[in-house]
Amino acid sequence: MISYRIDVADPHAHLFRVTLTVPQPAAVQRLSLPVWIPGSYLVREFARHLVGVEARQGREPVMLEQLDKASWSAACRGSGALTVSWQVYAFDTSVRAAFLDASRGFFNGTSVFLRVEGREAEPHQVRLGTLPRGWQVATALRPVQVDGAGRGVYEAADYDELVDHPVELGTFWRGRFQAGGVPHEFVVAGALPDFDAERLLADARRICEAQIVFWHGAAAKGRSGANKPPFERYVFLLNTAEDGHGGLEHRASTALLASRRDLPQRGRRETSDGYVNVLGLISHEYFHTWNVKRLRPSEFATLDYTRENYTELLWFFEGFTSYYDDLLLVRAGLIDAPRYARLLGKTISNVLAAPGRGVQSVAQASFDAWVKYYRSDENSPNATISYYLKGALVALALDLSLRADGGSLDDVMRLLWTRSAGGPIGEQDIAEALAQVGKRSYAKELAAWVHGTGDLPLQALLAQAGVDWQTQPAALAQRLGLRVSESALTGVKVSHVLRGGAGEAAGLAAGDELWAVGGWRLRRLDDALRVLLPGAPAQPLLLAREQRVLQLALACPPEAVGAPIQLQIADKPAKAAAALRKAWLSG
Ligand SMILES: [Zn+2]
Repeated sequence: MISYRIDVADPHAHLFRVTLTVPQPAAVQRLSLPVWIPGSYLVREFARHLVGVEARQGREPVMLEQLDKASWSAACRGSGALTVSWQVYAFDTSVRAAFLDASRGFFNGTSVFLRVEGREAEPHQVRLGTLPRGWQVATALRPVQVDGAGRGVYEAADYDELVDHPVELGTFWRGRFQAGGVPHEFVVAGALPDFDAERLLADARRICEAQIVFWHGAAAKGRSGANKPPFERYVFLLNTAEDGHGGLEHRASTALLASRRDLPQRGRRETSDGYVNVLGLISHEYFHTWNVKRLRPSEFATLDYTRENYTELLWFFEGFTSYYDDLLLVRAGLIDAPRYARLLGKTISNVLAAPGRGVQSVAQASFDAWVKYYRSDENSPNATISYYLKGALVALALDLSLRADGGSLDDVMRLLWTRSAGGPIGEQDIAEALAQVGKRSYAKELAAWVHGTGDLPLQALLAQAGVDWQTQPAALAQRLGLRVSESALTGVKVSHVLRGGAGEAAGLAAGDELWAVGGWRLRRLDDALRVLLPGAPAQPLLLAREQRVLQLALACPPEAVGAPIQLQIADKPAKAAAALRKAWLSG
């Protein structure tokens, strides 16, 4: 069996030590570290944090040759076990790599475990060795022999499984609940002592129950058999810090990062926007357990850890997951319909504010995620559209259309699940499921909404569902076609210049600091409202440092293109709209 031992070597130096034992190695045994972590579509070159790679057989040193940025080969003699050791520098606070200091440790296998090429399909074992006193272990890896704190030996059926179970180490809060007859564990690191653990646990449980019912029907709740969730045990690993927000899905767990200020506080009943954000994150990553970890793009049937793995389907796997994350909070009774409408309005506003929606389709955005979504820069709003945000709106548009046709997107998701037996699918499968549930072809919609760049007919579809669409006045930055940051230190600084806007016409570029306009010193961009009036002549705009003067005019009225949208649950919708809305929001 391929076996690893991982030790906390030096928390202050942020170093793990890993030792790998390969029984009966090949004469030339290749080893390599993944360049990316599934779920996060960017080549991250984890091997840059590996140091001191050494190999031996028994007491004999073995020649190691580094072949490329992430691969080594060991020249073995005979069939004696090959032992390879290395250190990993771990100081990445995200959920995508590895972290270690005196208070906490965390790792994904993709950051720490070299892959034994040719032996990936064999069982892999991990021993969690030396840990600081009092530390515990939390992971969805299968325990073989562990103590009460979780230290000891774990096993995975193969390399894919080994690296799909992140591990949290430290002195964290830990709670448990059952959902759908399956034990769930919830770990929270870094929380303030007054955080309301009971409430978080109860709310997480409601999310899990709602999703298990979503995928497997009410019969799954607390029962066994074919309708059970497709995992034996599930673990939430939530790390809380001063700032940060993110998550990464795995087959039986998720690693989450949230601001500790967003956790509920004991003795307070209100549900802050920050907490709704945390619940949305929990819901999002849990939904991925079905949608992308099992039901997945056919291109991900076998993962290639050495390079980009392209798919055009992230609009479905990320976008539809984003659609259901908040919708299932309504269905779980954690937020009400007006609050859901506000969240949906925000997503619509964000999409409408990006000129890139007219340039890139969500299918293209999916394919290009590796070099665009994950490498956003000052031009991103002009050249790209988020497959999360617009993908969620495609799901909304399809759901409301299907409901008008007597079906629902819920039925499509479940049909895809049963048809593929929770496995790889292509766009053709999605098209067929839509046609079967809607009893008509949705090819036109897929062509326009997924492969086209026009705006979705959401206003009309939402009206049919008893939701009112109101255009709000746009902020000055949007009306000028700018995105800016404002601070006492830097004043007003341009981060993005939107295509076709007044800022672009004036010659502004990202990085410019706006000093004064029309003789008025700018401390906030809104100071310019004194002199910039729609239709009025251009005003001299002084840029700091460069001391350049540009001419800036405000052409757009506040209700210009890209103005934010607010959605409201209509008070007295028509009977059909009321019925559709009820079915949509209650599932
Ligand atoms: Zn996601």
